[in-house]
Amino acid sequence: MAVPQNKITRSKRNMRRAHDALVAANPAECPECGELKRPHHVCPSCGHYGEREIVAMGDEIDFDDEDAA
Ligand SMILES: [Zn+2]
Repeated sequence: MAVPQNKITRSKRNMRRAHDALVAANPAECPECGELKRPHHVCPSCGHYGEREIVAMGDEIDFDDEDAA
């Protein structure tokens, strides 16, 4: 089994961990529905990106439409 040749000092260990902090998300308001969404991502609640609808939302599809068959 590989074994470290030297002990990592508290100082060196903490220097390495100085960059490990998590950064808070920066949610932006969707211009379409007003929900908070991740910037540069399709809105998960309405499926829009900017002005355009990218993803059709499931509840908008009418499965009971008789003419569709
Ligand atoms: Zn939206």
